[in-house]
This record gives sequence, structure tokens and C-alpha cells, in this order.
Amino acid sequence: MRILNIKEWGIGIDTSRKVLIAGPCSAETEVQVQDSFEGAAIAGAQLFRAGIWKPRTRPDSFEGVGEIGLPWIMKAAAKHQLPVTVEVAKPSHVEAALKAGVHVLWIGARTTVNPFAVQDIVDSLVGVDIPVMIKNPINPDVELWIGAIERFMKKGHLKLAAIHRGFSVSNAQPYRNLPMWALPIELKRRYPQMEIICDPSHIAGNRALIPELAQKALDLEFSGWMIETHSNPSKAWSDAKQQVTGSELKNLLSNLIHRDSSSSNPEFVANLEALRYDIDKLDEEVIQMLGKRMEVVREIGKYKDQAGITILQMDRWKRIFDQRIQATLDQDLSQSFAEQFIRALHEESIRQQNAIMNQLESSRES
Ligand code: PEP
Ligand code: MN
Repeated sequence: MRILNIKEWGIGIDTSRKVLIAGPCSAETEVQVQDSFEGAAIAGAQLFRAGIWKPRTRPDSFEGVGEIGLPWIMKAAAKHQLPVTVEVAKPSHVEAALKAGVHVLWIGARTTVNPFAVQDIVDSLVGVDIPVMIKNPINPDVELWIGAIERFMKKGHLKLAAIHRGFSVSNAQPYRNLPMWALPIELKRRYPQMEIICDPSHIAGNRALIPELAQKALDLEFSGWMIETHSNPSKAWSDAKQQVTGSELKNLLSNLIHRDSSSSNPEFVANLEALRYDIDKLDEEVIQMLGKRMEVVREIGKYKDQAGITILQMDRWKRIFDQRIQATLDQDLSQSFAEQFIRALHEESIRQQNAIMNQLESSRES
């Protein structure tokens, strides 16, 4: 079973350039949809987006105009002869969207987190051949994302793409949702054919940060972007801070740098290979050093066991933590990397000591 590329969806999306999905966060009025799609088309959109049903955190927020908005988006899309996508969160949405002739469906982050909700949508699509884009779940769990994708694949839906919209964590500063690029990269490693679209609007949460995120997605070879565009962004009924006008979008895209993913210049290729060789060797050394460190850790575990001492000695840990962080920072590595790295090292050391002490204990018992 092969996931089909966006080019193979049969809805005329030109993938000789990066795919641009654009349109407002929400359909608000017929005129706003028309004007916003007009702007999106000027920016080069190949697929229009508009939210019709909006799952919101609080019940009294604007939850979308509902079905009444479907004819507005179909009419405005037809005018530009472009396909359109909407978010569906339950079977009744699917039914209405299909009836209206929507070309592509997308599953929002708040739905991907819920396997039963995803399964209900899959089950409502029996016998329907429509492309589906699956946003990452709001929490940073790549398995949950893959799980949602696999629910579609298991029922024979292969016109699929993933949308990376960042992850809700306690401190995502300066973003609304932390990009955690390693997660979409892991998805790509597991499903290399899966095309991934980046949604810098929902990662950023504010328009100023969209260009750098769009550039990063380009550098990581994502297939394209989903970017919210509105005819009057600051007056938008939802996500006002992160929407841009069509001409702003056109401008920001034209300022992105397109780098080649490979080069035929032999000198460049040779230099790159030499540097990659160095990296491979260094990684090997780092891993071997970690192994050696853990040997010493286990040795300490044995001594502690003999002397009946606890594993964690808080005063020593505090001292080492600060020293090691400083040493890591001195190597020009970031504070957050330094903290994560030292913590991970410490956690694994405790785990190793614990394992050896338990092993010694049970061999005494037997
Ligand atoms: C949206 O695209 O407007 C939306 C609600 O996105 P997400 O599901 O990523 O929050
Ligand atoms: Mn939105």
C-alpha cells in the first residue's frame, strides 16, 4: 500500500512548485470568503482553505458559521477554478462537506488526539475517494499522529498528507505552539512517501513569525505550507493575530530562499561527504563515550549497594547539574539543549544504577 502524492490526488494541484494552501481561518460572511480567496489566489494558492466548523476551547467563542458557509466557499473556489478544503470533526461534517462537493478534507489537531473521533470520520467515508490531510495532535506524540494516519490507510484511503501545526506545551515561547521539528521528521522517516505540509500560522500564533517558519519548512523539504489569509486580518472572527492578507503572503513567499536539495558540483559533493564522514565518526565516539560513562555508573552502583547508600545524592546532583550546564554552554550549545541533555544523562544513570542494585538484591534473595 503506497500513500499517494498530492500530485496523484487527481484534483489538479501543481507540485512542480511547493504546494500553497491558503484562505481564512474561518468562513465568516459570503463577501469575506470571496475577498479572502481572491487574496489567497493572488498569493498563488493551489488549494483554498476555510474553517466552517471550529472546535474552540471555550463554548462561547465563535464556533464557525456551519453549513451555511459551504455554498460560499464552493462558489468562491469555482470562480478561481481551484479546489477547496475544510476541517471535519465528526461524521455530520463529513456528510455536509461531501454533499457540497468539497475536494479535500482535513482533520484538526483537536480531533487527531481522539482515536474514536478519527475512527468515526474514517467510518463515515466508506466508499468515498477523497484526499484527507491529517494535522498533528495538539500534544507532542508522534505515535498518535501516525495512529490517526493508519486508521485511514487501513480502510484503503491512500490520498493522504500530514500537516505540521506545532504542539501545545506549557511554554512554547515565542510561538503559540512549539514546532518540535524532530516529530514531523520522525513521521517522514517512518512513512517516507507521506507529504508534509507546514502550517506556520498555527505554530506562530502571530504573523511576524510566519516568514522564518515558512523558510525552515522549505529548508527541511516540506511539500508546502498552509497559511491563513484574510481580507482584513485584524478584524477576523478567529485567529486575528496570525492571519495575513493575500498580498502580504505573496510578498513573504517571494522573499524565501529556495535552496537545492542536492548539488551536482563535484567539489561541493566531495566536501559535504567529508564533513558527513566526520559527523558519523564523532557520533560514534559520543555514543561510545556514553557507554563508557554508564559502565562507571554501574560500578558506582555496586559500591553504593555494598555500602547501603541511596542512589540520588541531591547536593552532589545540584552541583554537577550547574557545572555541566555551564560546560555545555561553553561549547556554544543552547541553554535548553544543555538542560535536556544533562537531565537525560542523569536519568539514564539513575536507571542503570537502579537496575544493577535490584539485580544484586534479587541475587542475594535467591
Ligand atoms: C485551523 O486550521 O484553523 C485550526 C483550527 O487548526 P488546528 O487544528 O491546527 O488548531
Ligand atoms: Mn485558525
